[in-house]
Amino acid sequence: MKKDRRKFLQLSSLGLGSMILNPFSGKASGKILQKPIVVSTWDAGIRANMAAWEILQQNGRALDAVEKGVMVTEAERNCCVGLGANPDRDGKVTLDACIMDENFNCGSVVFLERIKHPIHIARLVMEKTPHVMLAGEGAQQFAVSQGIPLEKQELSKEAKKEYEEWLKKTEYKPVINIENKQITAPGKLSDGSFNHDTIGMIAMDAAGNLSGSCTTSGMGFKMRGRIGDSPIIGAGLYVDNEIGAAVATGQGEDIIRVAGAHSTVNYMQQGFSPEEACKKVLEKLLKIKGSKAKDIQAAVIAISKTGEVGAYALQKGFIYAVCDANGKNRLINANFLI
Ligand code: ASP
Repeated sequence: MKKDRRKFLQLSSLGLGSMILNPFSGKASGKILQKPIVVSTWDAGIRANMAAWEILQQNGRALDAVEKGVMVTEAERNCCVGLGANPDRDGKVTLDACIMDENFNCGSVVFLERIKHPIHIARLVMEKTPHVMLAGEGAQQFAVSQGIPLEKQELSKEAKKEYEEWLKKTEYKPVINIENKQITAPGKLSDGSFNHDTIGMIAMDAAGNLSGSCTTSGMGFKMRGRIGDSPIIGAGLYVDNEIGAAVATGQGEDIIRVAGAHSTVNYMQQGFSPEEACKKVLEKLLKIKGSKAKDIQAAVIAISKTGEVGAYALQKGFIYAVCDANGKNRLINANFLI
């Protein structure tokens, strides 16, 4: 799948802050950013960060920032996330999302159809129901009961073309491709293909509180009913306000196996820096996948309570967007294992 990505990137080095001691371990850690901070996955994150930043710079809550931020991506009709995304094998777009705040409150929707902003429904599940997760028709009914309109069940022009191509072979290959886009120079992103369909965002607000969000159409041409890691608290997203926050992207089945986001936060609790924590989770994944790991991509981004940001990927080609306290928003190539 090839898509042109807009190139209004503001790149610069992550040379902010300084080395400090990690309060959990006493070990030296990496770069500390001043709060507020927002970090998100892939290059669409750059636009999502801008919306989140609008809220954060006005002393808004991280929870509002991560919701409004990823809504930008959900609304991009020709993007990888939301109703404009690739459908399942039956030609229907089904969406998954979750959100988590600084008090362990969380909400999630899975297998949701005809809703423009699944992340908003996830937040409504969190705030208006005694539950954490709603699925399919029930989730849609709940959305409608909250006054959310149902959108038409129609594919974006781009997705329709992709689907028609796919129908020619109907080959079922549930793998997340390895993106080969990279930042080649300040402000420049190479051409390349991708097959990921997710945005994950984590933020720390001016008060020092953390929140996270994750929203996806899942894998293109997936089996009907398939759910990945993205809407699963602990797999796709986890926030512990005393320790840090993490969000994952890539092959959902494998991220679930290692409880990707929670494991990352757990490693931060043990004193690992965000980058080391992300790396350790992917090392585990590599270990369990063995030689099959080369066929998949998985990546995690994390923020520690001290304001340190890090990421790691299984393969080359994962980029993430970081916006710091000065509103400097840039894409960064993540380090990788293979
Ligand atoms: N993690 C998502 C899923 O498995 C896909 C992605 O991150 O692109 O559904």
